[in-house]
Amino acid sequence: MAFTKLGLNPDILKAIAATGYDQPTPVQQRAIPAALAGGDLLVSSQTGSGKTAAFMLPCLHRLAVPTEGRGPRVLVLTPTRELAQQVTQAADTYGKFVRRLRCVSIVGGASFGPQLKALGQPVDVIVATPGRLLDHMERGRIDFSRLETLVLDEADRMLDMGFIDDIESIIARTPAKRQTLLFSATLDGVVGRLASRVTRDARRIEIISEPEQRGQIAQLLLFADDLAHKTRLLDTLLRDTELTQALVFTATKRAADEISGQLREKGFAADALHGDMSQRERNRTLQGMRQGRVRVLVATDVAARGLDVPGISHVINFDLPRQAEDYVHRIGRTGRAGRSGIAISLAAHFEKRQVRDIERYTAQPIRVGVLPGLEPKARPARSDGFGDSRRAPGPRRVAAKRPLEGGYGARGRTHSDRGPEGRGYAGEPRRGAPRSHGHSLPASGKRRSFGNH
Ligand code: AMP
Repeated sequence: MAFTKLGLNPDILKAIAATGYDQPTPVQQRAIPAALAGGDLLVSSQTGSGKTAAFMLPCLHRLAVPTEGRGPRVLVLTPTRELAQQVTQAADTYGKFVRRLRCVSIVGGASFGPQLKALGQPVDVIVATPGRLLDHMERGRIDFSRLETLVLDEADRMLDMGFIDDIESIIARTPAKRQTLLFSATLDGVVGRLASRVTRDARRIEIISEPEQRGQIAQLLLFADDLAHKTRLLDTLLRDTELTQALVFTATKRAADEISGQLREKGFAADALHGDMSQRERNRTLQGMRQGRVRVLVATDVAARGLDVPGISHVINFDLPRQAEDYVHRIGRTGRAGRSGIAISLAAHFEKRQVRDIERYTAQPIRVGVLPGLEPKARPARSDGFGDSRRAPGPRRVAAKRPLEGGYGARGRTHSDRGPEGRGYAGEPRRGAPRSHGHSLPASGKRRSFGNH
């Protein structure tokens, strides 16, 4: 199917042609005509599926016809600042031939001055994180009287991050006759309940993950005996000649800082990205990554959400994600725009259940490999060196995650279920998870290849 068949304004089609996209992705093929028809939508789609264009193109189509007034006609809510900035960038790219289009990003962590200035002018699209938007709303800075479309992007993640009250307060102050487009990795549980409150007669569009659209991501699991072993594995992986840029995930901000510092000492062009950094620092780091100056980015989940850097060839989970669904978001940072990528997870022996949880969630087995010369020893005792500051403590996670668990069912089981010893989850997992198969990675002299085999 061609983009020209979707019924979009010629100015939008011209911008799409300039991006070089050949044809709409499955989520775009289904969501764009449905959104243009005007009804509410609930769309389940994975990151990397082309979902941003799926909601932004129909919004821009409408904005191509100007209306009177100054307030936003489209509001997009996103969980993180990085994602908000990417969505704003997408709006500018796809809307570059729409006359006098004004898109503003309203995110936390940035100074108020420029945002107040931008909101003082007429605006068409606001892309915002919920907290900061509410701040501006409470100061009477935003007039939603001409709002036509509300988009909730990565709604599951916004709820996961505790934005439910903010989202509901924002929505309560938007016109009832708006169109609402909700995009989420899952439409079950708490997301489904929110959707039923904020949409009307919504059409459900479920896109089962389409690996062929998302580029080929080879997944691999390496078991590590202790922290020192993990560090050696990381060092070796980062010397793979096929590595262009790597994103390394850690469980804590402190670990992200420590590991990036250690890597820099070893001569890697490494940097950290996490929520304690100012927006200016984060922007500088992201710019470095996009320009290729930073080769290894060590990040926490929140900071890396929505990151879209095509050069990322490797995602390395130095620490496993706390929730199975985060794994999908993490590995989706590689294999962008149809390229291939590799996702390598380093796991302690006692984390086998988390691995099984991930496999169940993705319905894919993760191949277990070893690096020659760095094979794990025989299964060690449990007090094996992982109990240092880099591993986020189990009990504290209970408080953070408990309120949100209900709706996600088995898919969203978190490490909060794990006892203080990190021994595994309380509830017995379902049987029948995809099986992992043991493989050895080929060692070809210095060069280690991790291709599919
Ligand atoms: P998203 O799922 O919105 O994060 O998009 C993932 C990536 O796919 C982004 O780098 C987009 O630029 C790219 N993309 C979006 N739509 C298309 C398309 N129709 N063809 C090729 N690439 C696309």
